Amino acid sequence: MSSQRGNVQRTRGQKHQNSSAFKNTLHDKSKKTQDMNSMALFNMCARCQDIIQWKIKFKKYKPLSVPRKCVKCQEKTIKRAYMIICDPCVSGTGVCAKCGKNAGIVVRQEDAQLQPSLETMFRDQIKCLSERRRRTFLRYLNKLQSTSSVQDGKEDAMAKAEEKLKELKLSVDEDLESLTSHSEESENDP
Ligand SMILES: [Zn+2]
Ligand SMILES: [Zn+2]
Repeated sequence: MSSQRGNVQRTRGQKHQNSSAFKNTLHDKSKKTQDMNSMALFNMCARCQDIIQWKIKFKKYKPLSVPRKCVKCQEKTIKRAYMIICDPCVSGTGVCAKCGKNAGIVVRQEDAQLQPSLETMFRDQIKCLSERRRRTFLRYLNKLQSTSSVQDGKEDAMAKAEEKLKELKLSVDEDLESLTSHSEESENDP
């Protein structure tokens, strides 16, 4: 039976497939959910970051109401849910704040500050872009932020983002030009 637990022999595909991916903001436009989506995830390993991202995406994330005790310094210094080690202790030891293992931290706390600022810095500048190009740019920003943490630093990411924005703006102009020249041509055509 296909519903049997642990049955790995099944050959047919999944019967029901959602036509669009689950979006936690579809029926919930609250600021809380939006804040959660843009929350910077730092001082944890890739695996723990995935877990937290999953929790946020599927609305399973429960923020802490009171600070939690850190397993290293025994102080009530943890303000982020699901973490067991506070951020000052993480910077001292280099272990993941969630699982406590030394698995390589994906984003450092200092670099995490980059995330909201890049987007806010470009918020006004991207207003003139078309919806499609704006999305391209935001996607590019996200990629930039996830890849350029330690090696490149904030200024390099800024420079790259600015270059990309210039490129996108130029391509908008080209589009407009080709549009106007095209309409001129057709007007001249008898
Ligand atoms: Zn601590
Ligand atoms: Zn971890």
